[in-house]
Amino acid sequence: MPQIYNRVALIGLGLIAGSMSLAMRRAGLAGEIVGYARSAETRKVASDIGLVDRVCDSVVEAVKDADLVVLCVPVGVMADVAREIGPHLKAGATLSDVGSVKRAVIDAVGPFVAENVHFIPAHPLAGTEHSGPTSGFAELFDRRWTLIVPIEGTDPTATRRLRDLWEGMGALVDEMEADHHDLVLAVTSHAPHLIAYTMVGVADDLSRVTDTEVVNYSAAGFRDFTRIAASDPTMWRDVFLNNKDATLEILGRFTEELFALQRAIRTGDGDHLHDYFTRTRAIRRGIIEAGQDTDAADFGRIKK
Ligand code: NAP
Repeated sequence: MPQIYNRVALIGLGLIAGSMSLAMRRAGLAGEIVGYARSAETRKVASDIGLVDRVCDSVVEAVKDADLVVLCVPVGVMADVAREIGPHLKAGATLSDVGSVKRAVIDAVGPFVAENVHFIPAHPLAGTEHSGPTSGFAELFDRRWTLIVPIEGTDPTATRRLRDLWEGMGALVDEMEADHHDLVLAVTSHAPHLIAYTMVGVADDLSRVTDTEVVNYSAAGFRDFTRIAASDPTMWRDVFLNNKDATLEILGRFTEELFALQRAIRTGDGDHLHDYFTRTRAIRRGIIEAGQDTDAADFGRIKK
């Protein structure tokens, strides 16, 4: 695939930035990839493993002459980074981000973007519970959706170029409006994470079930909750604080449904339970048919 940007700057050098760098290299999409992270320790690790072509010691140096700058930092610090780099972005450059929340990021970053810079938010719907500079891998975005969230007046050519980049990294790409994005993600990702955090917390608190029992007998659903609940605390704190309304709306509906199921169990309403589980099973089948997960036993964990 031909090179799409001459110089790409990745701000933050964790799971998403690392995976982007490796995926861009795999397809030869960037002439040079430079990177910056807050701590000297992360910068050293990224430099030692050659995660990007050049690790910079300051964020301003990293964005200098970059044709594309991607903010790959937690949502809560995007505004601070944008404030610092805003005056140093090249005229005609594209500024994007990978934040899991879009409206709050647009509101926080937008004011620091000059008129001659294309600000095009995006969100790859791909991740793992791992974080940091050694956690990235080139295949992370393969056949996973990336949502591009163009804001009013965004230049279509610049948007097309960013789309091409994500497609070149293996992603399926769609465009979505910011508030709708936040609602969809509250349903598909944010509320499920909160529920997983809660379930693991409950198991931890429950003194009648020993820690050993929780660990040894975790196959029945709980193990998948623990994987999700191992996700990065800083990232997820910021997601909930910045997608408050949509998450609370979904949690409200979740609570109502939970009460209905609770009542069905108490009153012995087997039909309600059976109908409900039949409907949810069909959703799982839809995800597999869409190629977004494996139907291998044990989610593909069992080694054949
Ligand atoms: P991560 O692995 O924890 O990496 C975050 C990086 O940001 C680290 O290199 C960190 O540097 C750096 N950083 C933090 N504050 C900074 C600052 N003020 N200035 C410069 N660098 C700073 O996180 P991630 O999973 O890649 O997530 C990054 C973004 O992607 C988040 O906005 C998240 O919402 C979004 N996202 C995540 C996933 C997922 O599943 N993980 C999926 C889609 C989107 P230090 O190591 O020096 O602190």
